[in-house]
Amino acid sequence: MKYPILLPNIFNHPFTYESDINLKVGDYVLVPFGKSKITGVVWDEFEKNKDKKFKIRNIIRKLNVTPLKKDTINFLNWFAVYNLIPKGMALKLSLISGAAIENKEKKFYEIFDNKIIKNSIKLSTSQNKSLEKMNRSNKKFRVHVLQGTTGSGKTLVYFEALKPLIEKGFQGLILLPEIGLTSQFEQKFEEYFGFNPAIWHSGISKKKKELIWSGISCGEIKIIIGARSSLFLPFKNLRMIIVDEEHDQSFKQDEGITYNARDMAISRASFENIPINLITAVPSIETFENIKKGKYEISRLTERYKNAALPNYEIINLNHTKLEKQSWIANKIIEKVNFHLEKKDQVLFFLNRRGFSPIALCNKCFLSFSCPNCAINLVYHKNRNILLCHYCGFKSNLKRNCVKEGDCECVFSGPGVERISEEVKKKFPGKKIEIFSSDTMNKKDSNEKIKKIINNETQILVGTQLISKGFHFPSLNCIVVVDIDLSSQGHDLRGAEKNLQLYHQLSGRAGRTGKPAIVYFQTYENNSKMISEIANENPDIFLDRELEIRKKNKLPPYQRFISLILSGENENKLEKEALDFKNFIENKVEGKILGPVNAPLFKLKKKFRIRFLIRGSKSIKMQNSLSQILSKYKFSSGIKLSVDVDPINFN
Ligand SMILES: [Zn+2]
Ligand SMILES: [Zn+2]
Repeated sequence: MKYPILLPNIFNHPFTYESDINLKVGDYVLVPFGKSKITGVVWDEFEKNKDKKFKIRNIIRKLNVTPLKKDTINFLNWFAVYNLIPKGMALKLSLISGAAIENKEKKFYEIFDNKIIKNSIKLSTSQNKSLEKMNRSNKKFRVHVLQGTTGSGKTLVYFEALKPLIEKGFQGLILLPEIGLTSQFEQKFEEYFGFNPAIWHSGISKKKKELIWSGISCGEIKIIIGARSSLFLPFKNLRMIIVDEEHDQSFKQDEGITYNARDMAISRASFENIPINLITAVPSIETFENIKKGKYEISRLTERYKNAALPNYEIINLNHTKLEKQSWIANKIIEKVNFHLEKKDQVLFFLNRRGFSPIALCNKCFLSFSCPNCAINLVYHKNRNILLCHYCGFKSNLKRNCVKEGDCECVFSGPGVERISEEVKKKFPGKKIEIFSSDTMNKKDSNEKIKKIINNETQILVGTQLISKGFHFPSLNCIVVVDIDLSSQGHDLRGAEKNLQLYHQLSGRAGRTGKPAIVYFQTYENNSKMISEIANENPDIFLDRELEIRKKNKLPPYQRFISLILSGENENKLEKEALDFKNFIENKVEGKILGPVNAPLFKLKKKFRIRFLIRGSKSIKMQNSLSQILSKYKFSSGIKLSVDVDPINFN
């Protein structure tokens, strides 16, 4: 018998193999490929090109793995077409380093014991209403959005929705955006369910991954808490997907194979015909539009824990205040912060910039220190005494020969969190201060630091956006946004939306236990209307207006964008190629081609970058036409193309 076998590699079609054993679609097999043996899956369709004169080889053996479901195969096929990647690469995403793991004995999965504790959780009236809505139609595909301010108890509602499904032996998937710092979430899970969740992200060991993969495939593991990649696990009987913080843009995979895990989760739910719940405080613009159209159901939780109101806000216009030299905190703020500290409130100074200073330059020649690999300034990290590129990781010290004479004399312009923390130390002597950024919080002692923050032993935090990601700090009642700048993202059509999400999430960190809380926005911006709209308790007003702008300008979610980036080390060659490429695809692709233009980040990791944006209607025709054209175009050597469907970043 002949079988079509899809292999986890760059080919978009299955290969034909032969075998005496009886195989079904979805069976995992071991086959020879070139000189090696690799894992493949019996696919649902043979390769279309029948003229190949290869000798058909034999399947080595069938693997002892639960077959991949037809629904999952359909999903992977669709995923490949939608994101313009080869089918083989889609399959690869669902395997572990290209391999499948054979079923193990039951006892191996006992650490993920699925005995649910009988706990007596009492839901509030609005929590119950949401739960009812979730349960009402949970047997087939539908999208339900659970919207609630931070601290309103959304997690408990979906735990309650998952529980009966798990008890019946079904499986559930909880997707989270940033899984590196989920210890607070894990604890919540264990307290509720009484067992360890299987956690899935890039940081866990290969051995653990293999165990979880096979446990999911044979149905012994019931719940996964996972990052983006958990979406491709071979679930045996998945019955519900939860996407928590659905608005979070880190669901977008930007490097390598690009895809949006939230959108792909919705598609997977649709192929598997199961319900999916999107959880958020402020929905993404796409989700908001689907709610308005009535495509998604919605329920809202409006009460916060202990009836805590969202914090008030106040705008401090820096144009009317004179700051001292090398200072970024207004005197008015110092008074207010002292008032909060006396009340034993924790205070956060927020600045979304890691390190000490974003610009280092020489006092004599005025040349800045920039990255030799990227068209970007190096950031000075004082704690490590190095200049660092935040894009490629390039490091250097401060010593440089000056074009004038001798060595460059380094001065710093503008603050990062380290610099603000120095100022805070001076202005609030004797207080315990902690920097909260990926430089300080991705280490082994970060749990210890978080504990101290929770217990209010740390009185002042200086943090980047990392702090906006779901942390619960009970004493945090005062936030100072050091400089809210809404003007700088001209090239980013999602800039406004990103700001709304960031500052809304940030505000949600304060006042979580019912005490009055406040956010102070320091700004040089004279347009305070935009800030008040962002800080407003009702984000729908902002989203409504943003949708109007998007509609008028033919932007997503009304149209589809596909971004194409050509990159290469030779600038002239790249420019020429970009024009040739444009001529080739023009009038052939279902959409309007914008570009070529130099990417805002023109040089990255030693490669120059030129962008195109294709805009068209939201139909798979756009992808189909593009993939056909691309298959016919031969790029010159050294030129690379990256395709990004529904881009989030416009760098
Ligand atoms: Zn760099
Ligand atoms: Zn110099």
